[in-house]
Amino acid sequence: MSDDKSGGMAPAHPAIALDGIDLSLGRGPARVHVLRGISLDVGRGEAVGLVGPSGSGKSTLLMVMAGLERPDSGRVLVEGTDLVGLDEDALARFRGRRIGIVFQSFHLVPTMTALENVALPLELADRTGAHERARAELEAVGLGHRLHHYPAQLSGGEQQRVAIARAVAPDPAILVADEPTGNLDETTGRQIVDLLFRLKRDRGATLVLVTHDNGLASLCDRTVRLRSGVVEEPVQGAVEA
Ligand code: ADP
Ligand code: MG
Repeated sequence: MSDDKSGGMAPAHPAIALDGIDLSLGRGPARVHVLRGISLDVGRGEAVGLVGPSGSGKSTLLMVMAGLERPDSGRVLVEGTDLVGLDEDALARFRGRRIGIVFQSFHLVPTMTALENVALPLELADRTGAHERARAELEAVGLGHRLHHYPAQLSGGEQQRVAIARAVAPDPAILVADEPTGNLDETTGRQIVDLLFRLKRDRGATLVLVTHDNGLASLCDRTVRLRSGVVEEPVQGAVEA
């Protein structure tokens, strides 16, 4: 399976390698050719900001990287594993262990407490001590005093902190976030960004972040700009719009 013959040295493959990704979504007249031949590598431990106009395919590309959308053609290698070759069960297991996902609208389970939401992916991955681990993760994001609150009883910023705790709890190699500050005020958004980057740094994870916020994009090691489903090549010396 693995072509890693480095015998203990750092593996040579990038965290994410996309090769010739094509994807159309929708049916009939609503069908859209969303991603058009995207090839892109993200290095281990790198923070990449995915930017571009609304409708350019950023969210779809992120979902392809996270294994939540299958491309029509092309290869998606995450940590050297070809996601396109995995069946649904294997893909779900891989996602649960290796990829953490944060959404703009939090996507917490409304009938579960903060603690239960964070414990859920750990339980699904058959980790022992899921609740103890979940408690520690919530304490790490400053929510040790909100363990038994339901999402509706939490502020937007608190809900996003729960979602981030849930995403990082299984210790994923890859963290993807789709406009994680899009539903938050500026001050709260800044705290969420600081938290994401701190967790990424502390755990040596790779971060891919969709954002409209130039300030947030500038914190990344590199930005990748999409336009109409294609990666725009950076122009040397161009002034950032
Ligand atoms: P972005 O995140 O950059 O705003 P998206 O990836 O959400 O862009 O969407 C890219 C394009 O694909 C948009 O034009 C959108 O309308 C279209 N699209 C997304 N999902 C679907 C779908 N399920 N069916 C049809 N078109 C879709
Ligand atoms: Mg989007």
